[in-house]
Amino acid sequence: MFHMKRIAIDMDDVLADTTVKIIQTINGLLDKNYSYEELMSNQLARELFLKDYLANNSFLWQPGFFLDVPIKEQAVEVVKKLSEKYEIFIVSAATEFPESLKEKLIWMKQHFPFISWTHIVFCGHKYMIQADYLIDDHEKNLKSFLGTPLLFTAPHNLHIGEYQRVDTWDSVANLLL
Ligand SMILES: [Mg+2]
Repeated sequence: MFHMKRIAIDMDDVLADTTVKIIQTINGLLDKNYSYEELMSNQLARELFLKDYLANNSFLWQPGFFLDVPIKEQAVEVVKKLSEKYEIFIVSAATEFPESLKEKLIWMKQHFPFISWTHIVFCGHKYMIQADYLIDDHEKNLKSFLGTPLLFTAPHNLHIGEYQRVDTWDSVANLLL
């Protein structure tokens, strides 16, 4: 039988615009005015934001945060097309945030109903994941991956150079479809 290649896809800052929601939350908590575009283009803003984020990120452990994170543009359309050609697994390092587990399942069912619970993996470390590709925004998940790692661009990984980079879901489509 023909064996489909397998793609493991991260959730936060790959399928979901988690940083956008984090920025909105930090702005609300601290009466600040950060924007995603500013973090992408301004290193000083990234440093100031990181400081504010690290000192004020307990909302990540509160119920509700992961329920309404916005979806990345074209993520649904491209993942749907990929799923006709590849075996897709969603792999999220979610166990650090116990409240997120059910919320992420609800979010997946709402936005990606064509991906079954059998193909959603919640984990801590990702180094035991076996796939042909891993699309992730964090170097720590990519560096031990044995397949082809693809770094999905986010403000916190702009300084990383040694991985093949995808900026958008359109660039994932260009590469893999
Ligand atoms: Mg991520």
